[in-house]
Amino acid sequence: MTTPTATKSPIHKASIYPLQLPKTTKLAVAYLSIVIVPVVIAQLLGMQIEGIYTSILSAVNLLAMSVFFMQFPLAGRIKQLPLFANIDWGITRHKQLGQYVGLFFFLHPILILLPKAMMSFDDFSVSLISAITSPHLLTGLLAWVTMAVWVLMSVFKDKLNINYETWRFLHVIGFSIIATLATLHITTVGSHGQYNQQFNVTWWLLYAVSMTLIVYNYGIKPRLIKQRPYAISHVEKINESDWQVNIAPTTSNTLAYQPGQFVWLNTTGNPYSFEQHPFSIVTGAEQGQLGFIIRALGDFTSSLDQLTAGQTVFVDGPYGCMTLDQSQLASGITLIAGGAGIAPMLSLLRQLAAQHDPRPIWLLYANRTQARMVYVDELVELEKTMIDFKVQLICEQLNVHDDSLPSYLVPGLINQTLINATMTTGKESQWTFYLCGPKGMIAATTTHLHTLGITQPQIHFEQLAF
Ligand SMILES: Cc1cc2nc3c(=O)[nH]c(=O)nc-3n(C[C@H](O)[C@H](O)[C@H](O)COP(=O)(O)OP(=O)(O)OC[C@H]3O[C@@H](n4cnc5c(N)ncnc54)[C@H](O)[C@@H]3O)c2cc1C
Repeated sequence: MTTPTATKSPIHKASIYPLQLPKTTKLAVAYLSIVIVPVVIAQLLGMQIEGIYTSILSAVNLLAMSVFFMQFPLAGRIKQLPLFANIDWGITRHKQLGQYVGLFFFLHPILILLPKAMMSFDDFSVSLISAITSPHLLTGLLAWVTMAVWVLMSVFKDKLNINYETWRFLHVIGFSIIATLATLHITTVGSHGQYNQQFNVTWWLLYAVSMTLIVYNYGIKPRLIKQRPYAISHVEKINESDWQVNIAPTTSNTLAYQPGQFVWLNTTGNPYSFEQHPFSIVTGAEQGQLGFIIRALGDFTSSLDQLTAGQTVFVDGPYGCMTLDQSQLASGITLIAGGAGIAPMLSLLRQLAAQHDPRPIWLLYANRTQARMVYVDELVELEKTMIDFKVQLICEQLNVHDDSLPSYLVPGLINQTLINATMTTGKESQWTFYLCGPKGMIAATTTHLHTLGITQPQIHFEQLAF
């Protein structure tokens, strides 16, 4: 192993992505181009103009409703469409936009009645009471109340005393009901969503797509997954906190994947169960097996001792874009892993070793303690056998006075100095950087990389939580 010593800043030459927009910018542009479509259609069909305030509010209502419907594919695990295939980006946007849409729809009745309130408080009170009591507006009122409760349940998910699977089940059911009520409301009431009967087709179409996605994900896809069963082939506790779990296909119907990707693993025996967890595939090319390194953190991951060899399991996937395709043009590769984030990095590294990749490759691997490092022997061996591979292990809690410590271990966290010390070629503007670990580590490491002149298109990451 190599302890990096160089401290000079890299010389940044022309990037391999000089004109390329960051991947997230491209996704955002594609997303905006789609959500704007109902507003454009409304314009083409001739929007009712009842003053500037109403016109703006109508357009914003359309946009908000469009964003609401886009929440379904954003969280819908659609790997076939590039816009939705980046699960991490999709779920992050889903969470952010969900809060904005929730807030906007909470304000929706107030914004509609605002002009009346400004002219006469009495008129405003009468309109408000009529809005609450009118049977005509019942669907809107129910959608409004349910939306407020369900958005709060999502924002404070971690504070609710329910497990993740129950929460997800309620989330899917609740928002399907809200979509139904909201579509009924906008297609039957008011001038803010309904321009003419033709326009209502847009809403029913969006509603149909959203519900089809739900039916596919929770009804049809599990049936397909059931036809591709796997069985546990190996379960082993490999250190104080991590397990190696391997699964093997029990039919010839196996899953094709690329190193760096992940699957949702379901060990309940019921393919329809909501109890399924995302894990990166770390091994498996041999006999179609899939291997996982799993860190014990919560309910499921702390009960892996209950898994038995031969037990039927199901996998949904593969997902994820952190693959070697992203570094095809790069002249070097840096892999940065925190804790369980080593899983996809090991997968990428094994593939790079298998293809005798001649490029310089670094692995920075951080953990809280030395005992939590996995597959260190393999990393040492790869450093000897690969053409130009170096590894740096970083431990938060390291007894620096322990004389028996290997020299390649350094204390602390992944920081700018350590990353900078690996940048010895001066060509890092042409490298690709892969990051995987907890959210905080990804955010901090991305900042360090930016400070060192690495641009966003060079960085590919997977966070270990949604
Ligand atoms: C893309 C991705 C890849 C991952 N790869 C690995 C890996 O290779 N090795 C590893 O040890 N860990 C990995 N994780 C983390 C792992 O999925 C969680 O630690 C595990 O699901 C926690 O489940 P639990 O019941 O033990 O804990 P809980 O306490 O129930 O959950 C802790 C948190 O984990 C997340 N989580 C739980 N269940 C799910 C789910 N079904 N879908 C999405 N998020 C969920 C939620 O944010 C939850 O708050 C990965 C996570 C993601 C998002």
